[in-house]
Amino acid sequence: MGSSGCPPAIVVGGGLSGLSAAVDLAAAGAPVLLLEQKPAPGGRARSFVDAATGDEVDNGQHLLIAGYTHTLAFLDRIGTRHLVHIQPRPVLPFHHPVRGFVDLRLPALPSPVHMLWGVLRTPLLSVPDRLALLRGGAALRLERAESADGMTIAGWLDEHGQPEEVRRCFWEPLAVAIMNERIDRAPARLFLDALRQAFLRHSSDAALVFPRAGLSRLFADPACAFVAKQGGEIRCNADVVRILIAGDGAMEVVLKSGETLRTPVLVLAVPPDRAAALLRGIAEIPDGSTPSPIVSMHLWMNPEFMKQEVLGLIGKRIHWVFRRDRHLSVVISAAYDYVNLGNDELVTIALEDLRQVFGARVPAPSHSVVIREKKATFLPRDSSQSRPGPRTGVDNLFLAGDWTNTGLPATIEGAILSGQAAAALALRSLQLKM
Ligand SMILES: Cc1cc2nc3c(=O)[nH]c(=O)nc-3n(C[C@H](O)[C@H](O)[C@H](O)COP(=O)(O)OP(=O)(O)OC[C@H]3O[C@@H](n4cnc5c(N)ncnc54)[C@H](O)[C@@H]3O)c2cc1C
Repeated sequence: MGSSGCPPAIVVGGGLSGLSAAVDLAAAGAPVLLLEQKPAPGGRARSFVDAATGDEVDNGQHLLIAGYTHTLAFLDRIGTRHLVHIQPRPVLPFHHPVRGFVDLRLPALPSPVHMLWGVLRTPLLSVPDRLALLRGGAALRLERAESADGMTIAGWLDEHGQPEEVRRCFWEPLAVAIMNERIDRAPARLFLDALRQAFLRHSSDAALVFPRAGLSRLFADPACAFVAKQGGEIRCNADVVRILIAGDGAMEVVLKSGETLRTPVLVLAVPPDRAAALLRGIAEIPDGSTPSPIVSMHLWMNPEFMKQEVLGLIGKRIHWVFRRDRHLSVVISAAYDYVNLGNDELVTIALEDLRQVFGARVPAPSHSVVIREKKATFLPRDSSQSRPGPRTGVDNLFLAGDWTNTGLPATIEGAILSGQAAAALALRSLQLKM
């Protein structure tokens, strides 16, 4: 592979799944061309410079954990692992309306003893509630994963007798952050599998990972530089409008500009609705996922009143607050009730909630940026429903994306893993053709 004159493998979509596919293809020496519709790559995990302040801001603050092993390996490969800080031990800081600022700390003990100890000692819950949570944790550890198939998270919590306060303080904040969906709608299996990975594998997997750079500087820009250095090409403003199978079995990609490109192998790394439209008549994509929104607000103010780098808010409309150098980033996940509100109304909601937590010390922001991602993540309707990909039934066409069949929720880790899986299959297909 890599001989000049051979048309490159094409990756359509420059989000993290497409970028991870392109990076792996390029690293293996395959000629690769990535086509991205937008002026810049990054997809749903990107940053930009705010014109008013000159600060780098993300389209939405992302929460990563040390158990994102594929993501951290990806950062190693593209050379930006030094741009994240990983908590030495997992600490989840919360604010509770009655108990105030309380942490869930997991000590340096082997898994699952670290979890047992952390829950028994946390001031987040009363002693009876801690015991109830431990019973839920035992079910998580001991039950077969398939036993949660077809259930919602709320249904699973009912079945395991989890009290209201335990749901409110533990299960719900984690579920909404991981699944970006309400617990009465989100499939239990996917969530519980994600919790098993975060809390029951290695005792430090749940440690939070804080990016020290904007998302584009962390992921998309260095990934593109890596591909280019290996001789690959990234083309932005390249909107793919059709995919065809040529007579000889090669794939053809038609751009909005009218240009047609041939390729021996194609990785399609676009959201599910786009994939279904582009593959109509070529491969069946089950219409099995629904989008859920996230509202992010960046509020410029002196953030000194906030000691924590991140804080989960229990019983508030805003879910997470992140302290940056000169501003706060506020997140509302599963934001169905908020996504259509105006900017002023949303900022008012954020300030009201912040003042209930930190008091009148919270100043009015000097500037704010509100970002609504209506299709922030895609959730499979139920966990037993099969998510497609990476194979499509066409032997040189593969799917990637956080919504494909990774076994993970729609996250950065899922996106990167899906790209790597598609790239491995694409490489095998290329080798067979040689
Ligand atoms: C606000 C927000 C907060 C989030 N928070 C977290 C978090 O805390 N932790 C976490 O792990 N994950 C989080 N996520 C999810 C994470 O960002 C996504 O899972 C991941 O970025 C998805 O990557 P992807 O490549 O699968 O899809 P995308 O990023 O959607 O990439 C698809 C790309 O394809 C391009 N494209 C589409 N159609 C075409 C076409 N016809 N031709 C060419 N290109 C095309 C699009 O422009 C896009 O760049 C969050 C997402 C959002 C929006």
